[in-house]
Amino acid sequence: MSFKKVVIIGAGHGGFQLAATLRQKGYQGSIKLISDEPGLPYQRPPLSKTYLQGKLSDHAMLFRPASFYETEKVELIHDSVTAIHRESKTIELRSGGGLNYDHLVIASGARNRPLNIPGSDLQGVYGIKTRNDADLLAPILGSIKKLAVIGAGFIGLEFAAVAASLGAEVHVIELGERPMQRAISAEMSELFCRAHEQWGVTFHFNSGVSLLEGEAGKVSRLLTSKGEAIDLDCVVYGIGVIPNIEIAANSGLKVNNGIIIDQYLLTSDPNISALGDVANFPCRYFAEQTIRLESVQNAVDQARTIAARILGDIAPYTALPWFWTDQGNLKLQIAGLSIGCDETVTLGSDSENKISVLCFKQGTLICVESCNLAGDHMVARKLLSRVSGLTPEIAKAAGFNLKKWELENRPN
Ligand code: FAD
Repeated sequence: MSFKKVVIIGAGHGGFQLAATLRQKGYQGSIKLISDEPGLPYQRPPLSKTYLQGKLSDHAMLFRPASFYETEKVELIHDSVTAIHRESKTIELRSGGGLNYDHLVIASGARNRPLNIPGSDLQGVYGIKTRNDADLLAPILGSIKKLAVIGAGFIGLEFAAVAASLGAEVHVIELGERPMQRAISAEMSELFCRAHEQWGVTFHFNSGVSLLEGEAGKVSRLLTSKGEAIDLDCVVYGIGVIPNIEIAANSGLKVNNGIIIDQYLLTSDPNISALGDVANFPCRYFAEQTIRLESVQNAVDQARTIAARILGDIAPYTALPWFWTDQGNLKLQIAGLSIGCDETVTLGSDSENKISVLCFKQGTLICVESCNLAGDHMVARKLLSRVSGLTPEIAKAAGFNLKKWELENRPN
């Protein structure tokens, strides 16, 4: 299978990787990479971490310098795709005109779920999704004395850690009962909760936000659903995302919490693939249902699978999901998916903030969360990629060592 014209909607992690891999693997046809964000394509994770702190330059954020696009003949088009016409295999651009494709890849990602509460349009209320968002927030960060973070997910807590390190008084308001509740075990939540509190963060769990009040158009007070009032200078929210499916849905592609794709990452139209945050796919590691994952690994590995298919190497997508988050001096790395976990075994030293939580489902290892234990994370990725035979009973035994066990039980 070979296509002369590949068009990619979205130049984030997945879109960029697809273009780069196609060229790396020798694809000779035309590649049009359409971005509705200004500037050169960049990495998103530093936006709530090092970039926000001024520790990473604009240049270091880029996937590749401008010369890459010229040398590799990847045509970067700054525009927004407004419609897909599947019968004629064309897309429409906001600036007018259109482009035709042999194969179209939708890598349009997701946008922040908006804060739908009174006062969310006041000045001083920020979401962090794009470089533009971080560029608005970074210059004022040092002067903020008191702020609230709405949502104790990965991004909210990364930001909370940065703000606390700069001396701000930080309040985190969270509907759930613990940090990162939907993504990690109670044991790991507890470690992160304790660390944030040591950095000066105050959590308000089981609590929503009912109102933001302002003075002279600028946010100055937050009222929680429990009636607490918090005076502040700034609010940052991270309450989840909405996949950018509209153009796909309007063109008649199947959608349901993302664009539905099969194990080959094809949509309901064989001329169109989708990947990354916008795609809902059958994951080998979550056999019960399809899933939409929001991670760099997922976007990048799906891009590689699609590039291979475009070049004739057709294989299902089977990569193990993994994630990371950096908060203060804590690096959490997660291998696998913990959905359905019914038993955990914790290894390591809580007092040193170095633990790995092994998550089991009906006696089978499904996920390993490692804090400040990069070695365990790498071992976990190996173990989870095969039928390991590791049970909770084995892991609970005195002196159990994950690395040693993996080595001793490695298949020949
Ligand atoms: P994106 O990278 O979001 O790219 C999609 C692009 O498509 C965007 O530029 C969008 O504007 C554009 N687009 C949308 N619609 C159109 C259209 N109609 N026409 C043209 N362009 C369009 N993941 C991790 O694994 N680890 C982390 O530590 C981590 N930290 C993060 C921190 C922040 C602040 C954020 C926002 C995300 C973080 N993520 C992290 C998640 C990770 O960045 C995403 O999972 C990843 O970027 C998804 O890649 P993608 O290509 O699917 O979408």
